[in-house]
Order: sequence, then C-alpha cells, then structure tokens
Amino acid sequence: MAKQEKNSWRNGPDEAGRFGTFGGRFVAETLMPLVLALEEEYDSAKQDPTFRAELDDFLKNYVGRPSPLYFAERLTDHVRANAAPNKGAKIYFKRDELNHTGAHKINNCMGQILLARRMGKTRIIAETGAGQHGVATATVCARFGLPCIVYMGATDVERQSPNVFRMKLLGAEIVPVTSGAATLKDAMNEALRDWVTNVEDTFYIIGTAAGPHPYPAMVRDFQAVIGHEAKAQMLEREGRLPDTIMACIGGGSNAIGLFHPFLDDKDVEIIGIEAAGHGIETDKHAASLTGGQPGILHGNRTYLLQDEDGQINDAHSISAGLDYPGIGPEHAWLHEQGRVTYLSARDDEALEAFQLCARLEGIIPALEPSHALARAVDKAAEMDHTQILLVNLCGRGDKDIFTVAEHLGIKL
Ligand SMILES: *Cc1c(COP(=O)(O)O)cnc(C)c1O
Repeated sequence: MAKQEKNSWRNGPDEAGRFGTFGGRFVAETLMPLVLALEEEYDSAKQDPTFRAELDDFLKNYVGRPSPLYFAERLTDHVRANAAPNKGAKIYFKRDELNHTGAHKINNCMGQILLARRMGKTRIIAETGAGQHGVATATVCARFGLPCIVYMGATDVERQSPNVFRMKLLGAEIVPVTSGAATLKDAMNEALRDWVTNVEDTFYIIGTAAGPHPYPAMVRDFQAVIGHEAKAQMLEREGRLPDTIMACIGGGSNAIGLFHPFLDDKDVEIIGIEAAGHGIETDKHAASLTGGQPGILHGNRTYLLQDEDGQINDAHSISAGLDYPGIGPEHAWLHEQGRVTYLSARDDEALEAFQLCARLEGIIPALEPSHALARAVDKAAEMDHTQILLVNLCGRGDKDIFTVAEHLGIKL
C-alpha cells in the first residue's frame, strides 16, 4: 500500500481496495486468488528500481515520453478576444496525443505487460469498446511477442472496422461477443470469464482505472506519469502550478493520471468532464457521475448508468472512447468528497471545440479531449488573464475524421 500521509487525498485505496465506499473487489471466488496474486506482484514491482527503470526506458524510447507541455497561444487569444476585460486564462495543453499509437492508453499497457512478463504470464487478454485499448494492447503484445486475445462486442466489431484491422495487423485475435447488447460491458464480462478459466498462464490488461482492486490504483499509477511530468514542466515554464487542470472522463484513466499528483495542491482546482451525449436530460449520454447512481459492475462499486431495476444502460457519446457506463471508483470518491468537480459536455459542444482547436492550433484533437476543450474554453473566459489553465490532450483525432465528417454532413 502507498505511504500514508496525514490529511492527504493521495492515500487511497485502503487494504480492501476501497476509496471510501467505492471500489473494492467484487469478484467470483475463483477470481480472488488471481487478483490477490496480481496485487502482491504489483506491490513488489512498485518497490523494485529495476522494474521502474525498465518501464521508464520503454516510455522514453518506445512511447516517446515525456510529452510536451504546450502553450496554446492562439486559443488563449481567441478566448481573450471574447471575454470581459482582464479575463481569459493562459491555456496550456499536455500533449499526450503525441504518444506512440496516438493516445495515453499505451502508458498503462506498457506498465501492465511488463508486470505480466515479471509474473511469467504467456497469454494476454483485453477488452475493448472502440478498439483503442485493443490496439494499444495488441501493440505491446507484438513488441514482446506474446499472444493477444481481444474481447470486443459484436456490435463494436461491426462499427469499428479500422481498429479491428489494425489489431489483426498487429497479430491479435479478436473474439466478437454476442451476449447482452454486444458492446463494451459485455466484452469486459467475457474477458473476466476467460481469466477465470485460464488462471495459470493468462494476464488480463484492463484499459481504464476501473475493475476490481488493484486495477484502479495500478492503472492510475501507470497513468500518473502524465501529472508528474506536467507538474515539473509547469514549474519549469511558469515557476508555479496551474490554477485549474481539466481532463475528459470515460472510465477515468487519463483524468486520474493527470489529477493524482495534484490532489494535495489545495490551490489547484481540478475539473473532470464527462460526455453528455445528446444531453444529460435525455437517455443518450455517458455521464455516470452527473447522471448515474452507485452500484456494482466489473468488480467494483462506483457510479453507473442504470435503470430502476439496476440494469446497466448502454452509454452514448459521439466519442467511442467515452461511452463506458461506469467510472473509476476513485473519481466516485473524489466527487463525493468534493475535491474534484465533475462537469459534462455534449456531442455538439465537443464537435465545435474539435474544429476550433484544429483551426487555431493546427492540432486535430481526438473527440474525447474535445469534451474537455469545450468546457476549458468557457472556464478560461471566466478566469483572470493572469491565471493558468491546463488541459490534458489525451489523444489525437485521426481516428475521428470519419465521424466528424458524417456529423458535418460531408461525404468523404
Ligand atoms: C479511451 C480514451 C479515453 C477514455 O478513457 P479514460 O480511461 O477515461 O482516459 C479518452 N480519450 C482517449 C483519446 C481515449 O482513447
């Protein structure tokens, strides 16, 4: 467990994997020995300087870290031009879209595959919705020569054919899942089932800061490289910490990765942005905190999109990476504690921010961080011009151009 500090937001989870009443290890008895073995191995790897050194080397030379901290000058000017006098914070981007494979997911996959190797596991499984975590997992499996089996809802296999082809090029085997709504949550259930039946040789790489303990804490730690770098870069560049930091939330891994190193910096305001789809008041959104209720899914207790009978509702967002019906348990806790503020942005707002960023900064962002950008533009306009706002640009938008063209009514 992490070193305990007095009055710290960074101590969690407790020994049972709980963040307050959230998190935990709600798994079948047959899975319990596996998650306990994983926890033990991860605890030892964390203390081991050779593990850290190996991970750092791959992050630097294979993933391309550190990612730059970039002052978005033209976006800042745009906000100031439309804001009240002396308003309009300086906007910075943490450029994780420049990572190999185009997003932050590889940070976590690299950490987990090194752990799998350390445990002597020879077979990797993963779940994927849009295919981005599947691609990142297939990438590291190719790099280390391990077989990769990716569970994917049959509906998603159909919808996401470019990523399915990418994964196949990388040597992965795709298993279409036809149970339930044949989307992400069903794929995750199927992956858990595989894990129980292949106890000896299999490692399950979960793609976000969710699942049974130790996954939420472990994925957070692997993604915290984002926040640690950003903090050091901001101190070097501006001589102080940002006033506000923002990130988008699907399951919450890029957000908790940025947020965690800043949690104890009391003067730093922290804002997470969920996907509001067609609007929180409709049933077509993916805002688990803003529009959901606590329940249990995928081995942990957290906020979920569910009906009165506790049936999980399918999430909707224009960005495939945000439409997960749950949220990592640490976010549920930070929300209840009030340390982090959770807002949301609709599909149309994300689309607008996507185009604005492309035109003003020459950066085509993924639709996921475009949700954070939408709220960041509003937020910056309310802040003083001497203040600093940092947004995590967690992915690039090459994958989204077809979706965007369709929404703009353009035929490619
Ligand atoms: C998968 C993905 C997300 C959502 O996942 P989190 O765990 O919430 O970070 C966000 N942005 C991009 C670019 C993604 O690929």
